[in-house]
Amino acid sequence: MPYQQILEDIAREVAPLAGAGKVASYIPELAKVPPGHFGMALITLDGRLYTTGDAHERFSVQSISKVFTLSLVIQHIGERLFERVGKEPSGNPFNSLVQLEYEQGIPRNPFINAGALVVTDELMRHQPDAKAAVLDFVRRLSGTPTIQYDPAVAASERQTGFTNAALANYLKSHRNLYHDVDQVLDAYFHHCSLSMSCVELARSFLFLANHGVLPATGERLLSASQAKRLNAILLSCGFYDEAGEFAFRVGLPGKSGVGGGIAALMPGRWAVAVWSPEINRHGNSVRGMKALELLTTLSGESIF
Ligand code: GLN
Repeated sequence: MPYQQILEDIAREVAPLAGAGKVASYIPELAKVPPGHFGMALITLDGRLYTTGDAHERFSVQSISKVFTLSLVIQHIGERLFERVGKEPSGNPFNSLVQLEYEQGIPRNPFINAGALVVTDELMRHQPDAKAAVLDFVRRLSGTPTIQYDPAVAASERQTGFTNAALANYLKSHRNLYHDVDQVLDAYFHHCSLSMSCVELARSFLFLANHGVLPATGERLLSASQAKRLNAILLSCGFYDEAGEFAFRVGLPGKSGVGGGIAALMPGRWAVAVWSPEINRHGNSVRGMKALELLTTLSGESIF
């Protein structure tokens, strides 16, 4: 498959969409990112890497980090997590308070913010230093020991994260949070502030395309069944109230973040990451979604 040619064609085709979205501004530090960036990286299971644009530049992965925390918790307690959080698509914004109230403190799925706060809280029961655990995990996944949190982004979100604080307090009032609200928020905001490039993200998603085994080392991180189920949740919940749209247009399990990144994978073949900071009103990258739609169209590869 001529992936290099495909990526270059995609970069050209999405360029006119510049200006069609807005850089996230509710986290002030993210508003400083120049809107024009576009990068994309695809890596195959046998290690062939294809890139275009700003594929090596690091950005704030935001909610893509929810895949890493969820993977770690599944490693520790498997499906028992789903006693505390559901696995149904939310059809609601990622930070919805209303839904959490209706559902009496049991978040609809692990990828909305309320669900990710529960996942972080669960991780802290097994890994008291949840910040170090996630950092160590992504460094192993990507084979890149230099990956760091961005303290300015974490602090910026801490100062303005009133909705996340409300969600965490509401979870606590329903006894669905073991640790202190502030401790959970601190770990969660740090996870969201992970700074990674498209190349590093694509590499970090490869184990999900490989039945739970990290291709670079042969290490099994999840059972084949766990990896399959995580992919199912990515497909149904990875894009919040646009999960249906993403499945319809792209047809891959994936996860977005308000930093403008999207990581996705084709089971048995490759993982891909794209970054373009301008997002739509659902919090998903405009050019990123279009780029992935073009990838599955031009390559003829999707899970459907
Ligand atoms: N850190 C962001 C938040 O909690 C993550 C949201 C996202 O990327 N969708 O609001």
